[in-house]
Amino acid sequence: MEARVKFEDQRLDCCDCGKPFIFSAGERAFFWSKGLTQPRRCKECRERRRLTLVQARAGGEG
Ligand SMILES: [Zn+2]
Repeated sequence: MEARVKFEDQRLDCCDCGKPFIFSAGERAFFWSKGLTQPRRCKECRERRRLTLVQARAGGEG
């Protein structure tokens, strides 16, 4: 049995900043293997969002 899934770079538009970004073949393969859908945000916005979440958690009331 042979997995013959060919991934190519794909251009997507970020839903946050609206800029086009490349969803690379490697990332697609990773997302696909995890059963995830394609990202809606560019790397920058995802990173910013992640940092915001981390900061919110670190400084959160507890
Ligand atoms: Zn963005």
